[in-house]
Amino acid sequence: MDNSNKPFFPDKPWLPSPDEWKNTWRDDWRIMGQEGYLLDKVLIYIQFDRSLCIEDFDKCEFCWKAFDKDNTQNEFAYFEPNNRIWICRDCFNDFKDHFRWTVNSGTENN
Ligand SMILES: [Zn+2]
Repeated sequence: MDNSNKPFFPDKPWLPSPDEWKNTWRDDWRIMGQEGYLLDKVLIYIQFDRSLCIEDFDKCEFCWKAFDKDNTQNEFAYFEPNNRIWICRDCFNDFKDHFRWTVNSGTENN
């Protein structure tokens, strides 16, 4: 059976074959195909707000760290408003160069 022309992940056709991941930034357990919807996005740095989550998914899109575990201290994080995705500060710093994110200050006057 010849699979050479099939994308390795049919549901994520933007991904290169795993052979090309070795020793690159993609070779990180947190990278799971987010390039398909998070490249070149404008993020907002704001305090975590549960009401902005989709179906109460209150975790970082990359490391799945839960924000607001005990509902007492909402921390600041990066938010992508179109897909309503949260990214923690650690993952933002680790991946910002690869995803070419820009950050809106959160104020409305840009
Ligand atoms: Zn994270």
